[in-house]
Amino acid sequence: MDAVTVIRDKRDGLRLTDEQIQWFVGRYAEGDVVADEQAAALAMAIFFNGMESSELDAWTRAMVDTGQTLDLTEVGRPTVDKHSTGGVGDKVSLVLVPMVAACGAAVPQLSGRGLGHTGGTLDKMEAIPGWTSKLEPEAMIRILREVGGVIAGASADLAPADQRLYALRDVTSTVDSIPLIASSIMSKKIAEGTDALVLDVKVGSGAFLPELDRARELAATMVGIGERNGVRTVALLTAMETVLGRAVGNALEVSEALEVLDGGGPPDLVEVTVALAREMVSLAGLHVDPADVLSSGRAREVWNAMVRAQGGDPLASLAKAPHSEIIRAEATGVLTRVDCRSVGIAAWRLGAGRERKEDSVSASAGVICLAKPGELVKVGDPILELHTEDDSRFYAAKAALTRAITVADEMPSPTPLVIDRVD
Ligand code: URA
Repeated sequence: MDAVTVIRDKRDGLRLTDEQIQWFVGRYAEGDVVADEQAAALAMAIFFNGMESSELDAWTRAMVDTGQTLDLTEVGRPTVDKHSTGGVGDKVSLVLVPMVAACGAAVPQLSGRGLGHTGGTLDKMEAIPGWTSKLEPEAMIRILREVGGVIAGASADLAPADQRLYALRDVTSTVDSIPLIASSIMSKKIAEGTDALVLDVKVGSGAFLPELDRARELAATMVGIGERNGVRTVALLTAMETVLGRAVGNALEVSEALEVLDGGGPPDLVEVTVALAREMVSLAGLHVDPADVLSSGRAREVWNAMVRAQGGDPLASLAKAPHSEIIRAEATGVLTRVDCRSVGIAAWRLGAGRERKEDSVSASAGVICLAKPGELVKVGDPILELHTEDDSRFYAAKAALTRAITVADEMPSPTPLVIDRVD
């Protein structure tokens, strides 16, 4: 077996054999025989020629086999996780994990950090004083058994081939390939050991793949991989045309998630979270309505226990930025658009996100949407509130927002938040 033949076969549109895939992915993870430039060439050949479903299964399995697989049988509850393809203001996990745990399932959420205009769940959770994302597998299993929910960083042992390949794809413009995204996400979820999985595939300007057709294809591809690998999987396609809720930025999003856990919060965030929670509870075989659990206060109790179990103080005050500025409406009428991607970029430039993966993030920086599409506004009304620790960042953040806001004469036609379901 040699890397050049594998690359040439894929370049020429052939289906790779299971042996070729196991060999290439395994040797790449070991870091000796297959070099980065060869993995990059193969990723580009896959980008152009795709993979058949059986080939994709072998590829995903090979990535799982490069590392450890968690065994969650000792948890003693049905396990179910959620994965989002990433959005702006997407703090769903913070509410969903304790909500579904309070329904009786165990939610082993291994999350990532933000990169670019989308935020990461670990960065948000780290805005809570004392909270740590680092957990040994034994601690994770104990917390899942006793509390029901864990949000933690994936260890380097979980699908290490994917961790290496993902960093390479990021710098070789091969991230947005459906088979590569689907296998990357699903290899980590299969290795995590969850029985069931609900995917939140975002559609719209703030999403990774903004177009509905591509998002639907990604959802179907991931559902197929999950089902063929023993993970019961359902996907919801949800709107990411504008910010979910009103807050973007780490501590700002934690505060908004707490509003929901306390029975309030923005209705769009509640709607998407409850829809995903109902799918998770149903896959876990439980007969409880997560909306009832939320209004009973039990989800908030589980949140407090989850945060304490990972060293955090659920009652501590969160960081507040020393500088803020308001962006105001330049016309009177109906606010029809606050562009999601632009708000994500502004929050990132204010310090909420990172440019390179080794950068640190500001807990307090971000953007609050004081008005949302569909609301009536007058000239001079506040639309966005920008927060930062460093006021020299306002200029670049405001530059990202110059064409982000549209005010028109007519109300936009309502669009659903949950667009479709794929199973
Ligand atoms: N998230 C992942 O984990 N992998 C991808 O390829 C894209 C998003």
